[in-house]
Amino acid sequence: MPKGRRPPRASPRRGARVPGEIPQLLLLSNSRAADGTYLTWARGEIKAFLGAPRSSVLFIPYAAVPGTRDAFDAYTQRVRTAFDDTGYDLVSVHEAADPVQAVRAAAALVIGGGNTFHLLARLYAAGLLEVITACVRSGTPYIGWSAGSVVACPTISTTNDMPIIAPPSLRALGLVQFQINAHYTDVHPPGHQGETRAERIAEFLRLQPAATVVGLREGSLLHVAGSEVRLWGTGGRIFRAAEPAADWTQRAGVRLQTASGQLSEAGAHNCERSSKARFS
Ligand code: ASP
Repeated sequence: MPKGRRPPRASPRRGARVPGEIPQLLLLSNSRAADGTYLTWARGEIKAFLGAPRSSVLFIPYAAVPGTRDAFDAYTQRVRTAFDDTGYDLVSVHEAADPVQAVRAAAALVIGGGNTFHLLARLYAAGLLEVITACVRSGTPYIGWSAGSVVACPTISTTNDMPIIAPPSLRALGLVQFQINAHYTDVHPPGHQGETRAERIAEFLRLQPAATVVGLREGSLLHVAGSEVRLWGTGGRIFRAAEPAADWTQRAGVRLQTASGQLSEAGAHNCERSSKARFS
């Protein structure tokens, strides 16, 4: 793991988007804080990431289960309220007549948490994987939390969720070249005989020795800007097959390098990003 880079500055604009650096992703471990408030802990980072309000943000509520229209409506309303003070209008893909077109036209994409298998199955069913990947790779900002962060990875193999539905594949958006384990914890209750989170991740790495897994603790997020990834918040733990797991803290200033060649690859889908959707 590369070391010795400067830690992120302690400025309130730390998460701010830098023009020209694409892709731009904000990947949160969790939405609800320990005190029960919704998305408040990351509000400052979300606002800095989105920049000045200009046009609408597209929300994808497909991780909600059972996936009925009601569940999507209620979820959208909760997130819309949380986004109110960013000044962006939040619209949901489930309200759109043409979901693919809605993704292409979006100023920013927001994918919420819930069940990761359900989320991925619905993305496949709606034919949205390629268009989301193409749009984010050509500059559409992406915010995800929990399942919405896991689905940004090459696969959803490091989710904590039960496979309550079978998507056609575990292959996901591949917007970053590492895996995320959301809500990461080392806590192991005395007497509990199930595998720890670290043991489950080690099993994954046995079969995928080239992979890197970021265990993202509650209250942490990753800001991907171009080929760099910066950590913000309580911290994470880095798992690789060839080395011992190591804590990753904001103070340590470690950056995770991504494969910039793949990240900057142009997609086949045409995104209608106008100057309104650009951030300067
Ligand atoms: N179910 C989680 C969420 O979206 C995802 C996970 O734990 O992997 O909150």
